[in-house]
Amino acid sequence: MPENDITPAPATGATHPLALAPVAGPASSVDGFVRQFLRNLNYERGVTLSASNVADRYFAFAMTVRDYLMARWLEDLRRQLASKAKVVCYLSAEYLLGRQLDNNLLASGLTDIATEAMAACGIDIYELREQEVEPGLGNGGLGRLAACFIDSLATMGVANVGYGIRYEYGIFRQTFEDGQQVEQPDSWLTMGSPWEFPHPEFAQDVRFGGHTETYDDDGVTRSRWIPAWGVKAVPYNYMVPGYLNGRVNTLRLWRAKATNAFDLRIFNSGDFEEAVRSQTYAENISQVLYPEDSTPQGKELRLQQQYFFVAASIADVVRLLPNGDPSTLPDRVIFQLNDTHPVIAVPELMRVLVDDMHLEWDAAWEITQKCFAYTCHTLLPEALEVWSVELLGRLLPRHLEIIYRINEEFLDRVRERYGDDLMRLRDMSIIAEFPERSVRMAYLATIAGAKVNGVAELHSQLLRDKVLPQFSEFFPDKFINVTNGITPRRFIKLANPGLSDLITEAIGTGWLTDLERLRELESYAENPDFRTAFAEVKAANKRHLNDVLRARDGFEIADGHMVDVMVKRLHEYKRQMLKLLHIVTLYEGITSGRVAAADVTPRTFVFGAKAAPGYVMAKRIIHLINAVGKVVNADPRVEGRLGVLFPPNYNVTLAERLIPAADLSEQISLAGKEASGTGNMKFALNGALTIGTDDGANVEIRELVGDDHFFLFGQSEPEVEALWARGYRPADFYQADDSLRRAIDLIASGAFSGGDASVFEPIVSNLLYDDRFMVLADYSSYLQAQERVDAAYADTESWTRSAILNVARTGYFSSDRSMRDYLDRIWRAEPVR
Ligand SMILES: *Cc1c(COP(=O)(O)O)cnc(C)c1O
Repeated sequence: MPENDITPAPATGATHPLALAPVAGPASSVDGFVRQFLRNLNYERGVTLSASNVADRYFAFAMTVRDYLMARWLEDLRRQLASKAKVVCYLSAEYLLGRQLDNNLLASGLTDIATEAMAACGIDIYELREQEVEPGLGNGGLGRLAACFIDSLATMGVANVGYGIRYEYGIFRQTFEDGQQVEQPDSWLTMGSPWEFPHPEFAQDVRFGGHTETYDDDGVTRSRWIPAWGVKAVPYNYMVPGYLNGRVNTLRLWRAKATNAFDLRIFNSGDFEEAVRSQTYAENISQVLYPEDSTPQGKELRLQQQYFFVAASIADVVRLLPNGDPSTLPDRVIFQLNDTHPVIAVPELMRVLVDDMHLEWDAAWEITQKCFAYTCHTLLPEALEVWSVELLGRLLPRHLEIIYRINEEFLDRVRERYGDDLMRLRDMSIIAEFPERSVRMAYLATIAGAKVNGVAELHSQLLRDKVLPQFSEFFPDKFINVTNGITPRRFIKLANPGLSDLITEAIGTGWLTDLERLRELESYAENPDFRTAFAEVKAANKRHLNDVLRARDGFEIADGHMVDVMVKRLHEYKRQMLKLLHIVTLYEGITSGRVAAADVTPRTFVFGAKAAPGYVMAKRIIHLINAVGKVVNADPRVEGRLGVLFPPNYNVTLAERLIPAADLSEQISLAGKEASGTGNMKFALNGALTIGTDDGANVEIRELVGDDHFFLFGQSEPEVEALWARGYRPADFYQADDSLRRAIDLIASGAFSGGDASVFEPIVSNLLYDDRFMVLADYSSYLQAQERVDAAYADTESWTRSAILNVARTGYFSSDRSMRDYLDRIWRAEPVR
């Protein structure tokens, strides 16, 4: 530990240690890092090293990393403003970032220096890492995708701003009480965040409600919106560093603040209590992330959130237009809409161009159509967002008028092409009439967007053929595919350092930014020494996972068990129930004596899943998983050959621990329901084999790794359609299959609910008489595939060989490749310099 732990005050003037040094930042040596760390501890936290607590040390440490990146960040902001480069504005209501510290250390190449520096101060860097609360500003895959994309754009040197919402409370923290999910607020900001920079000077006004009117402007009739109330949107900037390239982009998240007291007085005429109340009301907008994944509830606050962040983002962009000339907009920006959540940006840009900047409607529409592109993320009809006309008209009256006009002009074009085909006009109208008059946001996005993309080959095809067939006929060139990806920096390098080192030893550096180079590993699959080393990495990852689980939840995976993992949001279409029926079948086989425990492959089934708080069936399934786990884990007849673990609060941090330890990846959604999945990619790239249906990106994973290294089961999408058409009766499958019947009967008997059969009865009757996601139809095929898994796992060498080939052949799923595809096919932009 340094002798005197109080550092001298920073010098003033030009020699200030944080003065913008172009390359050698203040922390690029061990000594420099220590000095800067102590300075931050003393002058930012106001403590000495000896008096500091671990939170102080985490903050000072994070700030030291931040200081180093700061010079690059400021330089990039300047460079992007100066260059004529097109800026990719990614509009997303969610960013599921995960912890920042390690990623920022990695990106800045400071990991070794920082580790040494902390050791010199007698500080355990691992303990500091554990201080960070991950910003959980997303629900699941969609938010994580946005986070992967901005990482890739920074790494590729593309000018990008991610726009979103700085939720005070992110996705809830999940706990279990008697096996049932309980939601706790996620107060990720209580300690403050060292990674954010508020910029109140760039706040934007966002308004709501009121009415519209027309007025005469020198002989031209114009519309204007007279809003009734408003809020300030204050931007908070976050650094998005590229990997070892000295580039830092910006994630800009908006926070709602009440407008100043003067405005409040206007609106509230001296009623102090009411003034404070309406202030709270306004600030509610950015309070909480809606925890529904794929099931929008049509809540007013949610529409407020959506408009709030896109209106602020558009104003932020328009502010920077050279000479305020809107005609240059399509050359300077592209707004990528991450699902329909930000689609209200379309009428907002029209409003700004027509009402505020006085462009002709046609000119404005021309510009708008070039500035937007839309990514669809679903195939579930209930996930397609609609807003009631009543609500939209009340909150955003001018926007509703604009939507009506866009719709009228669009339907005129449809009429020109097809004549007065009323059915078609009704089907293609942005306005739905039933069950209530509402605005179909996906239609608006499709009509306005220059491109519409699905997120995996199968999904894009179904989008064209099943979800928006009339639109794909009308706009044949609009519909394209861009298969999702994941960032290898976080999900391989940081999550799996052992595997990363092994890969680098084999094929050298460079693969982390050119992931297709993993192909060079193929020949190593035949090398027994490499296989042994690979298997040792997997074993070490399991030990590490056990350390984490023991500390976090007090349980662990038994030695020698296959680690069989299903982690993702709890949703019926993802079919956690199918996994559960497999487990219950194994358990029933052993306990009934039909199967000898010694003949069962030792496996631990690991679940991770949050359910939307209002999704009753999903919460019941969580309860059942925990109930089955409790019984199975405690039953001596199982002889320790089966384990069921469900660590609560699945999030990015837990994903980074679980995935590298997995042997088997469960991707078992009903074919035609999962748009892409990205969890499936994370697993394959970490050397897990997949058991999966022909759904989403599983299709492409299987094509790349080959049928011999992938366990396919279940109906294909056309088979699913055919079975629906014939008439699906789940009870027939129950009657016809002894093993399925025994599993369901065991659940129905109350064996997992202390003899009370009523507890899980709703699950049982749902399976037998409804089963929208055809769990029973795919059960037998799934069990057979699991037997193939057991057989394959018994041959350790061959399994490891397959695992290596999974890594070697899935480099395609880097989000860098996804970004290249967006750049070439949609954005027509290039990296800066
Ligand atoms: C990758 C990821 C997801 C998405 O998983 P899917 O299996 O694709 O649904 C969800 N949550 C977290 C925390 C993730 O890291």
